[in-house]
Amino acid sequence: MNKEILSSLLEKKYELQRRISAIEADFRKGRSQDFSEQTCENKNNEVLNEIHLEAKIELGLISQALIRFENKEYGFCSQCNGVIHPKRLKILPYIDTCINCAK
Ligand SMILES: [Zn+2]
Repeated sequence: MNKEILSSLLEKKYELQRRISAIEADFRKGRSQDFSEQTCENKNNEVLNEIHLEAKIELGLISQALIRFENKEYGFCSQCNGVIHPKRLKILPYIDTCINCAK
């Protein structure tokens, strides 16, 4: 079961890294576009910024989960040290609190 979670975390990590670099490539491309498209572009950038930020936050959470995995702390609550329910981990693989502490 642990191996499954680890590979899904890694998969998610690579997916996010791909997404982040695609967005960053878009940012660079956006700057070289001509002036008439600027307004539309700004809106686009706003949305991109948001996705970019979200992806970065998620990537940070996944990196932390991977560190916990290495330290054999993964699956345990960071607040009370209790076991996090496997079903909860399946839905939120990078969660670090049990359902009681998350409330
Ligand atoms: Zn807890």
